[in-house]
Amino acid sequence: MKDIPNSTEARDIKNLMHPYTNARKLETEGPLVIESGEGIYVTDNNGNRYLEAMSGLWSAGLGFSEKRLVAAATRQMEKLPFYHIFSMRSHGPAVDLAEKLVNLAPVPMSKAFFTNSGSEANDTAVKMLWYRAHALGTPEKKKVISRLRGYHGVTVVAASMTGLPYNHTSFGLPLPGFLHTGSPHYWRDAEPGESEADFVARRARELEELILAEGPETIAAFIGEPVNGGGGVIVPPQGYWQAIQAVLDKYDILLIADEVICGFGRTGNMFGTETFGMKPDMMTLSKQITSSYQPFSALLVNERVFAPIADESNRIGTFGHGYTGGGHPVGAAVALETLRIIEEDKLLDHVGDVGAHMQAGLAALTGHPLVGEHRGVGLIAALELVTDKETKAGLDKPGALGGIAAAKMQANGVISRNMNDALAFCPPMIITHAEVDDMLARTKRSLDETAAEIG
Ligand code: PLP
Repeated sequence: MKDIPNSTEARDIKNLMHPYTNARKLETEGPLVIESGEGIYVTDNNGNRYLEAMSGLWSAGLGFSEKRLVAAATRQMEKLPFYHIFSMRSHGPAVDLAEKLVNLAPVPMSKAFFTNSGSEANDTAVKMLWYRAHALGTPEKKKVISRLRGYHGVTVVAASMTGLPYNHTSFGLPLPGFLHTGSPHYWRDAEPGESEADFVARRARELEELILAEGPETIAAFIGEPVNGGGGVIVPPQGYWQAIQAVLDKYDILLIADEVICGFGRTGNMFGTETFGMKPDMMTLSKQITSSYQPFSALLVNERVFAPIADESNRIGTFGHGYTGGGHPVGAAVALETLRIIEEDKLLDHVGDVGAHMQAGLAALTGHPLVGEHRGVGLIAALELVTDKETKAGLDKPGALGGIAAAKMQANGVISRNMNDALAFCPPMIITHAEVDDMLARTKRSLDETAAEIG
């Protein structure tokens, strides 16, 4: 298609620069053009239908054709298509959504602040920490600790907190003041013979050592995803968050839960924070908040965070931060409708039920010669692919095996995504048992074909 003049593919190559894409590879291979969506499926411009096992970007929790969201957006567009909430202006959808989110929060939260993307929400969290540090007369308490493999987005600050090489290499990142500690990836990072409990204790000890080396008076916060998605769906071992939280509490360091993937049902509870017993001071939310039908994100802050910031805004005259589209009335209306659907359709119960079915099916695939590990919770999971289960090695180049498998999945009508050699599954929360079975059967076929191809 890309060689046909004026095709969408040809015009794409000519004019569109894509995020997260090898720009030269795009020129030779052309894009996959998705044209429509229905339930958990999307269809390309050649009529091929794919089961979207990633919900797009871990994000279209209600699938691709929820009419109630379209109606909510249309109603709001007709009534008030845009207004802002700067300088003491407000509107109903922003107020309703802020109230709803504060009430939904699993730990006491004081206020919601609205942004447009996960990266912006995380960036805003750091700016609030910095502002607060000045407000409290401790301007040196500004460093942030995140984790290797963690994903927090791509703005300059969010990318600095992200712990993946692609987001740092050739960007000259991370910025100074952004520190990384080890990932809770037991299967990959445990030392020979180390138990899960010992591994957790080691990660907590390493965190404490980092804090002491830097000086606790210089560390503002620790940020982490309840389940680390972009690093390969890393589900922390039992007791991990409790051990980390104890260290943070000891040195008066705040916790930011990045709920951008986990929030709104993905792990079987409304928030990953609940699934893992975290006690965050700030929570960043996006993606499933509108099923990604509108760009939208939010930051929840507790009173410990809010009060000094409020006082400082009073001293200076304003809190000099905000985005034109933050709290957009159409996005807020879609978010409110999304939350209504999650509650009315009892989607948390559904995720518990259909998620257990998916996890059991994926766990059964660990018998396959290429599957080194299955990990997951709720409706998020990964299969870690290896060529040698003993040494946990893949092909020569990390990610090559995962890349072959993801391409086979696509050829078999399933859009998955490989993070290196981890093949991820994060289907829309409306997926049925039968659709899970279909996804698993296609996955098995793709793994068999991968094994045949690599010999
Ligand atoms: N945080 C997490 C956990 C994410 O997975 C992502 C995106 O995948 C982000 C933040 C960044 O969100 P956005 O791409 O909307 O900036």
